[in-house]
Amino acid sequence: MNIIVITGGSRGIGAATAQLCARRGMGVILTYTSNAQAAESVVAGIHADGGKAVALELDVSDIKSFGAFTDAVRAELQSIWQKTSLSGLVNNAGHGLFNPIETVSEAQFDGLLNVHLKGPFFLTQALLPLMEEGASIVNLTSATTRVATAGVAPYAASKGALDVLTRYMAKEFGEHRIRANAVSPGAIRTELGGGLNDEFEALLASQTALGRVGEPDDVARVIATLLSEDSGWINGQSIDVSGGYIL
Ligand code: NDP
Repeated sequence: MNIIVITGGSRGIGAATAQLCARRGMGVILTYTSNAQAAESVVAGIHADGGKAVALELDVSDIKSFGAFTDAVRAELQSIWQKTSLSGLVNNAGHGLFNPIETVSEAQFDGLLNVHLKGPFFLTQALLPLMEEGASIVNLTSATTRVATAGVAPYAASKGALDVLTRYMAKEFGEHRIRANAVSPGAIRTELGGGLNDEFEALLASQTALGRVGEPDDVARVIATLLSEDSGWINGQSIDVSGGYIL
């Protein structure tokens, strides 16, 4: 059985990805940072469907904790699946911030950079020794790296850096036969940045060629495909999953 780690699997895109990957026969190690109850309910749903999953606590901005997290992943691999290796990592955890550049504090800037760039960099480094030949890494970036929408500058800049990092991961990990790709969602109905109200949703839908905002499953299907062998020759790419956001 293929086992994957998904950061931020308690809600939104990460939870949808965890559920879909489990339905497609993967074992899932998902993480949460504050919402243990939501994470446990995703795990319970997967178990009810006959799948296998476990939730671990992880703050992706806390680099010092990654050694202990890697040990915990190794222990769960052994005890639940009798395995020693991972076949996938989804760097999904994140938070949003709507703030014009003039008002962004250093702490807000550092928080975004730590969660969206430094965390995925060092978490991938920590988990790399567990990844098997043929493994797939998926990094969640954002359509805000492609178009400038006011108020998300440090968020979009962090995601832009993660997009660049993705290509370097693909280049360097190729020798281990490990792929790395970025998935770049447009507007998706989740709780990110406080979620959507009717007015904001109508604006985002009007900016999207397919005429609606995306659902977490719209993105989860692409992530699950990138984790599968069907995508075995896709490497170092950034895939826009936005229904045609601001074309
Ligand atoms: P949600 O707010 O719905 O869920 C965020 C998830 O990330 C939760 O599981 C949360 O855990 C976890 N998380 C937040 N901060 C941390 C942290 N410091 N360490 C570990 N886990 C953390 O977000 P989405 O599902 O919308 O976002 C998923 C990814 O997709 C993000 O990287 C986001 O930037 C990206 N994205 C989203 C878009 C959208 O429109 N929604 C558009 C483009 C990109 P907990 O439940 O414990 O708080």
